[in-house]
Amino acid sequence: TLRLGLDEEPRMELAGPTSDERHVGDEGRPLLRALSMGQFELYYQAQFDCVSRQLIGVEALLRWQHPVHGLRLPGEFIGAAERSGAILQLDAWALRTACHQMRQWLDLDIAPPLMAVNVSAAQFARPDLVDFVAEVLRETGLAADRLELEIVERALLDPVRAAPTMRRLRAMGVRLAIDDFGTGYSSLGYLSRYPVNRLKIDRCFVARMGRDRTSVAITDAVVALGLSLGLDVVAEGVETEDQLEHLRLHLCPAAQGWLFGQPQPAANFAQLLRRERPGRGGIKQA
Ligand code: C2E
Ligand code: MG
Ligand code: MG
Ligand code: MG
Repeated sequence: TLRLGLDEEPRMELAGPTSDERHVGDEGRPLLRALSMGQFELYYQAQFDCVSRQLIGVEALLRWQHPVHGLRLPGEFIGAAERSGAILQLDAWALRTACHQMRQWLDLDIAPPLMAVNVSAAQFARPDLVDFVAEVLRETGLAADRLELEIVERALLDPVRAAPTMRRLRAMGVRLAIDDFGTGYSSLGYLSRYPVNRLKIDRCFVARMGRDRTSVAITDAVVALGLSLGLDVVAEGVETEDQLEHLRLHLCPAAQGWLFGQPQPAANFAQLLRRERPGRGGIKQA
């Protein structure tokens, strides 16, 4: 089944566990309940070309608007979501919501070239993932190459499972990025086996660039590796002009980070999109 339990109307009462909830561990129940009550939201963060400073894409990032505790970041709930299995519902909701948002921005003629969505290892391992992605693309009418799935290295440990999924997604036209590249179990050999489009340099390397030669070396090496393999590269967590300048000098094509803007709710992000719409020139200095 492709339903993934997402088509239900938001459930306002807190009666017994829903059918979804019976499949998740205790830690996951509050998350599913929050999801069904509409407490999750996607924030969007822009990605820019390092040289032209033009908008090249957007990453969707999950947020929990907790009625008591306020805005909660993934670091506070993703662990519990993964341990309990609730991550499957959260990821499916995020993918569908991000694609619907892209549809709306396309209709407003302010869409960014690309929407990037994070996919957990568990979601990536779902046998019905490819069908689910196809269904969401169909229901939103989104061209597959507008969607990029960000996969963590951990999801790629089993090449027998991962490679066919990646090939099927690529055959549909969906783009694939390796998130937090260099922080997981990196066997560089997998880059030749997997049909990846893009490497995302983890922000821990970018953050330490100013004070740690090893991080500079790793950042530069990932850029060079990506480019020589014909892959796109984007550096995460770019906060300063110095970092951007270094990346630019080392031919890193793209950057994402607070220098350009924090992740923002869709309504705020639409203002940035209106400023940056194609034909209006690149982003000005932050
Ligand atoms: P990620 O995919 O590597 O996302 C980058 C993280 O860096 C985001 O944290 C973003 O807000 C943060 N960030 C961006 N620019 C800067 C910067 O200049 N400086 C600093 N210090 N941080 C910056 P966030 O939103 O808290 O998300 C954390 C992680 O949670 C994500 O890391 C991703 O692994 C995971 N995540 C987020 N949304 C989803 C989702 O829908 N599904 C899954 N499975 N994981 C998600
Ligand atoms: Mg990501
Ligand atoms: Mg990342
Ligand atoms: Mg990261």
